[in-house]
Amino acid sequence: MTHATTRPTSPRIAIIGAGLGGLTLARVLHTRGIPATVYDLEISPTARNQGGTLDLHPESGQAALAEAGLSEGFRRLARPEGEEMKILDKTGAVLLHEAAEDAAGERPEVDRAALRALLLDSLPDGTVRWGAKVADVTPLAAGAGFALTFADGGGVSAALLVGADGAWSKVRPLVSDATPLYSGISFVEAHLPDVDHLHPAAAALVGRGSMFALAEGKGLISQRNGDGRIRTYIALRVPQEWAASGAVDFDNPAAARATLASYFDGWDPSLRALITDAEDTLVPRPIYALPVGHRWGRVSGVTLLGDAAHLMSPFAGEGANLAMLDGAHLAVALAAHTGDTEAALAAYEAALFPRSEAAAAESAENLIAAFAPGAPRGMLDAMAAHGPGADEDQSTPRSLVRPEGPALAAARRGPVA
Ligand SMILES: Cc1cc2nc3c(=O)[nH]c(=O)nc-3n(C[C@H](O)[C@H](O)[C@H](O)COP(=O)(O)OP(=O)(O)OC[C@H]3O[C@@H](n4cnc5c(N)ncnc54)[C@H](O)[C@@H]3O)c2cc1C
Repeated sequence: MTHATTRPTSPRIAIIGAGLGGLTLARVLHTRGIPATVYDLEISPTARNQGGTLDLHPESGQAALAEAGLSEGFRRLARPEGEEMKILDKTGAVLLHEAAEDAAGERPEVDRAALRALLLDSLPDGTVRWGAKVADVTPLAAGAGFALTFADGGGVSAALLVGADGAWSKVRPLVSDATPLYSGISFVEAHLPDVDHLHPAAAALVGRGSMFALAEGKGLISQRNGDGRIRTYIALRVPQEWAASGAVDFDNPAAARATLASYFDGWDPSLRALITDAEDTLVPRPIYALPVGHRWGRVSGVTLLGDAAHLMSPFAGEGANLAMLDGAHLAVALAAHTGDTEAALAAYEAALFPRSEAAAAESAENLIAAFAPGAPRGMLDAMAAHGPGADEDQSTPRSLVRPEGPALAAARRGPVA
């Protein structure tokens, strides 16, 4: 591990944030022979639970990995069986069941931690400085770049600064006044470990991929992870301050489970068991989004990517995919405009803004559909509206789960089980 204060050399390109977006940028730059340094507040690559599984889309996440020369590594990590998907109502009735074999096969799942490790391992030693929390960013004299101050008091300067630092970006205020707005929905993350052995009923309920049980403005969204666990997002329409309000005693897991399960009174016991049988680690995750269509005027020497640029709810399944695509596009633009960074940034942002606006709008629509009265019917319709044959520009990012297969077509006609 290299610490920011032990190697204070200032880079030409400083990337703030070693998430999937920042790392993809660093990797694609590296393949073009352009050095960059990534700064992250985490003290090591394994300091934080990296979250669950992602389906990588061919036109975004997978395209970025191809640009990074990592397609083969991705194929080794990918879990095609994770494409299985179910949509249930509160009684446990299955309204849609798309087996992995029926899915298009284009969007295999990958565990986020494994994907991040693939990117990290592809970078030269010392590219990422861990334990480097950016506390302040100050523009230098016109066109001379930016001074970064770290929380430990160290600092560097950089000619080009890229904010890949997520939802609460420290870099964003250099280009925009926008701040994330609460979506009205909060998740609580709950885990069942080793489900094949310890929770076979839940294993059968969820299957090998994802399950969405939605009704009455709330939901249970579960996904099978590569380590055999089921990760469930308990989704509730609650006020912004709910998680910190004491409505759920997160310091007392048994009490928290009971309270959370009470929100699902009247739901099928097999669904409530995803809460009542969960491990003690229950993590609240309020969902925020930047305004749809967030953009900024060109500011010399700085840009944003990923959530810093276009934070959206997870209901389009696009955030990580787009962060990686942004990183790859920015690297390719910089390589194509050697000696004219501003031209590279302008070209990158000209493509970034419409692309992310389309995905953010879709995500916002999908969130409304998922928690509307009559759910999950609206979600089925929203998915079908984005499937093959729908009237849309196929070059824009598509809906959350996958194109319409035979099971979805059947589901639109009525319940199948
Ligand atoms: C519950 C949930 C489920 C999701 N599911 C999906 C999905 O299925 N598919 C999908 O495509 N997307 C999904 N997303 C969205 C996805 O997680 C994000 O869009 C994606 O992680 C954004 O990547 P990023 O690199 O832009 O930012 P991040 O992954 O947030 O990385 C930012 C990095 O910056 C670092 N950082 C932050 N501040 C500082 C600082 N001041 N100094 C230094 N470092 C800093 C952080 O430590 C972090 O490592 C989901 C999101 C949530 C909340």
